[in-house]
Amino acid sequence: MKKRIRNHERKMPLTELEQFLTGRIWLREFMPFAQEEVDSAIAAGKIGVKKGITENKECTRCLERSPQKIISFNCAKCQSVCYYCRHCLKMGRVSSCTELIYWADPSPKPKTPHSFIWNGLLTNAQQRASDEVLESLSCNQSHLVYAVCGAGKTELLFPPLAKALEKGQRICIAAPRTDVVLELSPRIKAVFPDSVIHTLYGGSPAETGFAQIVIATTHQLYRFENAFDAIIVDEADAFPYSFDPSLEGAVIKAKKRESPIVYVSATPSDRLLKEIPNQSKIFGRFHGHPLPVPQFRPLWNYRKIFSKNKIPKSLTRWVNDRLAKKEPFLVFLPTVELIEQAIPLFKKLDARIEKVHASDPERKEKVLKLREGKISGVLTSTILERGITIPNVQAAVVGADEAVFDSAALIQIAGRVGRSSDFPAGEIVFFHNGIVRQMDKAKRQILFYNKEGFR
Ligand SMILES: [Zn+2]
Ligand SMILES: [Zn+2]
Repeated sequence: MKKRIRNHERKMPLTELEQFLTGRIWLREFMPFAQEEVDSAIAAGKIGVKKGITENKECTRCLERSPQKIISFNCAKCQSVCYYCRHCLKMGRVSSCTELIYWADPSPKPKTPHSFIWNGLLTNAQQRASDEVLESLSCNQSHLVYAVCGAGKTELLFPPLAKALEKGQRICIAAPRTDVVLELSPRIKAVFPDSVIHTLYGGSPAETGFAQIVIATTHQLYRFENAFDAIIVDEADAFPYSFDPSLEGAVIKAKKRESPIVYVSATPSDRLLKEIPNQSKIFGRFHGHPLPVPQFRPLWNYRKIFSKNKIPKSLTRWVNDRLAKKEPFLVFLPTVELIEQAIPLFKKLDARIEKVHASDPERKEKVLKLREGKISGVLTSTILERGITIPNVQAAVVGADEAVFDSAALIQIAGRVGRSSDFPAGEIVFFHNGIVRQMDKAKRQILFYNKEGFR
């Protein structure tokens, strides 16, 4: 009986407007629909309206309330003193006289058929973690998956995701960085080919339909409210998530009140380790080989040498070795200035060496070219410390003693090496101007994982 009622309700497909707005909180003036359509849905009570900035001077979208971020101005639109939110300004200005709208009257979710196509096998450790995540989700409890780089953490999420889809739930996979989102998206889509999956990041192309899975940067979650039955936060310790408390607020606002969060990280913060009671730990890689252990090599006065338009000798030797062996490589440098200074010098070693930094619009293409062998090596910043997998890649950190490379960054960089089962080993060299604590800490941690992962 119950089933038939639900079927009856399901006969009405969601309108495009409802598909778009369900779970979202959106600037009324930026709605990609005809104004009359939006107006009549508001009049019918299907769409709710909230003030952009509340009476208490809080931004309704990003929940910012600090007086340094909620700024008063003489507003031409409402002809009075208005407040706007500087914090989420990039997503379109929210001010006292703008309106944010949401779908006030959500329909029961349409139960669309999903398929789960995956022939891979989980290792025992992955399987255990996968079962544990499923168990936590089934009782709405948050969970931490603490898994080393290359443990295969994405794969272990497939079975819990499949279960959630089967239940008709809406799931978000959020990551602080666009690169990670772009890496995850094709993998999730390949496994769930019939599901509507949206990929959202700054400047992403428009998507249509009601997404059962949303893969998004944590920033994009400002635009959701009460939307998800579970949120998976990948790389929960990465910048900017770990540095911007409002992103954590965005995750909490985007999920339904009772919904759990699954945190996934190779380098979780002490806080997560302490606060999340349900945890799964995987300290071995999926292919069963140990994590490459960093070598420390001095590179005295490298900044001075670069400023004389020279590459320090032992670094030249390392790069030439990679070129001779035709191994793709990554050289991590502490600053963009140093990348700019060094790139012409490296191009003299090989014209096919490129640079990749945070604001590089060709970032994605260059990583792809490195994978395909069209580029021999890449000079980069910490922007590529996560999310990328290139078979047989070798890595060097120049200035591993500099503060920008904290132990988590160093562990992540080392984690780029030896990921594929065809090339499970590889070199990771920390070039330094004096060994510092974070280098020791990273190496000690990796040795610990190798010991624990093989018990
Ligand atoms: Zn805001
Ligand atoms: Zn105004």
